[in-house]
Amino acid sequence: MAKGKVSQELIEQLKKIVGEKFVYTDKDKLEPYSHDEVTDPHYMKEAQCVVLPANTDEVSKCVKACYDANVIMVPRAAGTGLAAGAVAIFGGVIISIERMNKIIEIDKDNMVCVTEPGVTTAVLQDTVQKDGLFYGGDPCSGDSCFIGGNVATNAGGNRAVKYGVTRDQVMGMEVVTPSGEVVTLGGKFRKNATGYMLMHLFIGSEGTLGIITKIYLKLVALPKYQMDLLAVFGNLDDAIALTPKVMNAGITPTCVEFMDNASIKQVEIFLNEKLQHSDVGNYIIIQIAGDSEDVLDEQCEKIDELARANKALDVLVANPAIIWKSRKAYLEADRARSLVFSMEDIVVPMTEIPGAVQKISKLSGKYDVAMHCAGHCGDGNVHIDILKDDRTQEQWEDMLPKIQGEIYALVYGLGGRLSGEHGIGYKRAALMAKYMSPIELHMMKAVKKALDPKNIMNPGKVVNINDEVPVE
Ligand SMILES: Cc1cc2nc3c(=O)[nH]c(=O)nc-3n(C[C@H](O)[C@H](O)[C@H](O)COP(=O)(O)OP(=O)(O)OC[C@H]3O[C@@H](n4cnc5c(N)ncnc54)[C@H](O)[C@@H]3O)c2cc1C
Repeated sequence: MAKGKVSQELIEQLKKIVGEKFVYTDKDKLEPYSHDEVTDPHYMKEAQCVVLPANTDEVSKCVKACYDANVIMVPRAAGTGLAAGAVAIFGGVIISIERMNKIIEIDKDNMVCVTEPGVTTAVLQDTVQKDGLFYGGDPCSGDSCFIGGNVATNAGGNRAVKYGVTRDQVMGMEVVTPSGEVVTLGGKFRKNATGYMLMHLFIGSEGTLGIITKIYLKLVALPKYQMDLLAVFGNLDDAIALTPKVMNAGITPTCVEFMDNASIKQVEIFLNEKLQHSDVGNYIIIQIAGDSEDVLDEQCEKIDELARANKALDVLVANPAIIWKSRKAYLEADRARSLVFSMEDIVVPMTEIPGAVQKISKLSGKYDVAMHCAGHCGDGNVHIDILKDDRTQEQWEDMLPKIQGEIYALVYGLGGRLSGEHGIGYKRAALMAKYMSPIELHMMKAVKKALDPKNIMNPGKVVNINDEVPVE
């Protein structure tokens, strides 16, 4: 069915629901919503209208109005996504949840936080911490992304080794369906065997099944002590191979992150700060936490021993502010060098990372292109930034798919997948047909068709039902 245009009548209807000043149609107001953090112009597109509801009732009424007019809706949180999921590539109305930014309740006894989706992740972390509680999710974009965006993308991040990804933190949610109905899935309870766990379909659905308007998050007790270690290696393989050794030694670190030497050097330039052993070093950053200083000291000694046995050049207790600033600047540093770049987000079994990174690094020489690797080696998730630098757009568009093709073929050969945490969005939607098992893809399309029969909620993202074509 052809999708309807955003008519003046629909705009007037939306204004009546949310108030005139919360419906944007002017070019200067639409521009910030025309992209997420993907910098390639290919993934940018202005919506015809952006609407900012204040609560679930307003979301529901806006969705109903768009549904009746057969107009595409694109849910949007903070726009820090790396897959062009929150961009109106196929036209329509962006429904931004940025005004729904209140933490509704911190239930200390049940250890649950109930929140609106537009709360910044770091604000939520800091707020629960004041009550001696801890939220396990921690994407590197935590200072800017929203918790609703994290749930919609099933964000991973630094602490997934110990606490799992966002999915593991979610106990329940309220969702507005593509036709505007409101449903609550899950709740404050920690067990549920009451039929299909529909909530899990919405986690990581990237706005293609409905709009998440309230979230119930699991909290744990705040650990008393924390320590960050930096192990520096001359060889990246030795660095990454440390991870399973630490995990098998009975230590469950909160984070195990890595940065290759090229990334460290790029971050050093970006921050204009000397980083330790940046001349030859590859980093493994390990964070451990617990309730006893003695236990942490013991774990620290064990990690030191394992790292040195694995040919570490140095093992240091790191200054957390510096080391995490460096790790989190990885993406910004590459963007400062080359505005256009592609960030790959592959995931492989943890033990396959050294082999994968070694083979991927060779592509840098083969195509004579800068490629920087960093990521979450505690959970097999490797980010590879491929930099356009001063190539023409034509050269870039010719080269990039070739490199990506080699990377994905390798990753699938190792039992991995296209994306570990950034998701599929529009950027990787076409690749799903190429790499995913046809049966799995068919099941995903069946879910999308069942929950969004008009294909009106963020179409053309994740799975492509009707061979959608971007609006010119
Ligand atoms: C510097 C940097 C570091 C990053 N580090 C990490 C990392 O460590 N781990 C990680 O996983 N990601 C990371 N990301 C990617 C990004 O921050 C995450 O994907 C994040 O979860 C997106 O949240 P957002 O609020 O910006 O969502 P948006 O970008 O606004 O939206 C993302 C997707 O969710 C959908 N969506 C948004 N809100 C809703 C809602 N309420 N209901 C339904 N669907 C919705 C959108 O349609 C879109 O498809 C990083 C990004 C940057 C720029």
